[in-house]
Amino acid sequence: MSSGRAPLSKIHQVLAERAEARLSDAALRLLVEQTGEALVLMDAMGTVLVFNSEAGRQFRIPMPERLERGGLPGCDWVRADNMSVPLEVSPLTRALMGEPVREERWGLRRPDGTVVVLRGSVFPVSPDGSLKPSGVLLRAREELLPRLDAARGAKLLAEAGALLGAELETEAQMEPLLRLLVPTLADAGVLFLGSSGESVRAVAAVHAEPERHVSLVEMLCRYPPDSLDPRGLPALFLTGRTERTAELSEEHQVALARDAEHARLLLSLGLSSYLGVPLVARGRIIGALVLYRTDGAPGFGDEDERLAEELSRRTALSLDNARLLREAREAVRLRDEFLGIASHELKTPLTPLHLKVQLLQRQVELLALNGKPVSAERVSETLEVVQRQVRKLTSLVDNLLDVSRITAGRLKLELEEMDLASVAAEILYRFAPSAAQLHCSLELHAPVPVLGRWDRLRLEQVVTNLLSNALKYGAGKPVRMSVEADGRTARLTVEDGGIGISARDLPRIFERFERAVSDRHYGGLGLGLYITRQIVEAFGGTVKATSELGAGSTFVLELPRGDIPEEWLSVAGAPEPSP
Ligand code: ADP
Repeated sequence: MSSGRAPLSKIHQVLAERAEARLSDAALRLLVEQTGEALVLMDAMGTVLVFNSEAGRQFRIPMPERLERGGLPGCDWVRADNMSVPLEVSPLTRALMGEPVREERWGLRRPDGTVVVLRGSVFPVSPDGSLKPSGVLLRAREELLPRLDAARGAKLLAEAGALLGAELETEAQMEPLLRLLVPTLADAGVLFLGSSGESVRAVAAVHAEPERHVSLVEMLCRYPPDSLDPRGLPALFLTGRTERTAELSEEHQVALARDAEHARLLLSLGLSSYLGVPLVARGRIIGALVLYRTDGAPGFGDEDERLAEELSRRTALSLDNARLLREAREAVRLRDEFLGIASHELKTPLTPLHLKVQLLQRQVELLALNGKPVSAERVSETLEVVQRQVRKLTSLVDNLLDVSRITAGRLKLELEEMDLASVAAEILYRFAPSAAQLHCSLELHAPVPVLGRWDRLRLEQVVTNLLSNALKYGAGKPVRMSVEADGRTARLTVEDGGIGISARDLPRIFERFERAVSDRHYGGLGLGLYITRQIVEAFGGTVKATSELGAGSTFVLELPRGDIPEEWLSVAGAPEPSP
């Protein structure tokens, strides 16, 4: 049997559903009102479905019934320079076209003429999942750029101080430091280190918006600062003065870009005003702090500038102190390492010296006890060893003394006329016995005298260093020396076929204590080439090495021949130099 009325249980269910719907409607309305953000929901036809009171407060308009072509009645979307933004690219229109608009900053000129800066998003809404949205939801909050009053400024500086003082690895602190400033003081920032004469690199970069942060980092990777390109660095690297630009136009940014892709990345960052402060330590520009505001936010003021300058001053000081400390630690490390090697090197000749003398003493005592004569041959043999070791010790100590003389600027030269070819021959002669011991052939090609004015002992020292290295690192292969004149320049070349030097080590072997071999395989203090270069430079000349690992080395010495008479330059007219 059927009745015309719904059963009681059905009526209960409908009532319960209505009550539930009313409750969730009320909850939604509450939520919409209480978010603290402007919320606008409109359908694709422009009918406004939701417009909360915060939207009314921000836009200064009552709830409109319809929004025509993405415009808010009586309002204009505007850019940094107060120019109107065409409605086709307004956030609402773009979202209506299906493009999500995330965390952007917009300016809106309201009916009363005031401009409000908003930050927000507009989401296309498609309940059925279709590509074309059935409506859009706008969320926006008024961007109250924090006014940096004295208290906030002081707090920021204190936080920065704590960061800078926390660790020695100051460069690692640069990103957290920028994050203190972004977004409090700026919307984006980059910290550069270096100066215009040398290479400049970006050590930290931050953009307040995640997507733009990625673009900023990508841009700096693909287009790193170029100190050779005058447009590649902010002018403050040259002037050392703070720069401020209230309105950074698109044309200006495009002009700074190196190519179209660079321009695209740069413009995608939305930069609209700029503040650049140099980092200056001990009167030298060591980098720059560069800050930006975006999307038409008000430009930087005097207070912002003062704060950025104070922060840069502290950052520069901290970076420079860290550098000095690093250098001091490195110097102490090198000194300790050197002391270790030096004591080892000084000890090495002492042991055979000690043993030989001890042995000789015992033999002499024994012979005397037996009333036998001491063999002159044996004594002389022992004394030979003793002398060799004493010579080694003397040369080590001389090297150390030379380094302290050079460091103190006390390297004195006594110039006299001499023949480089004879000096080379003389040194070669001295090395003949040790070369023979190593079964290594020594060759000199010096067909004519090469006269010049040099310090004899120092010149001998230089040739000795080069030749002893060629034998020491020469792996027993032939060593060839040549001397020639080239106008007012004398050239001496020492070539070996030994172990060679890798391209990585080559630049540092002329530095103090620098070595390219292990102490275990080859003894040495790493001072010979350092002293050589210092002497050669004191003569006004150069010494250069070319080498390949395992394929031998060539050292070329070039010396100005000094103030010698013109006729000496031609060999035929050259007199024999005084001995
Ligand atoms: P030392 O020989 O006491 O180490 P040097 O200053 O004379 O110091 O040389 C520095 C380094 O340069 C050496 O340790 C060695 O690694 C490298 N070197 C110098 N001369 C040669 C050479 N002829 N062949 C290969 N390596 C060399």
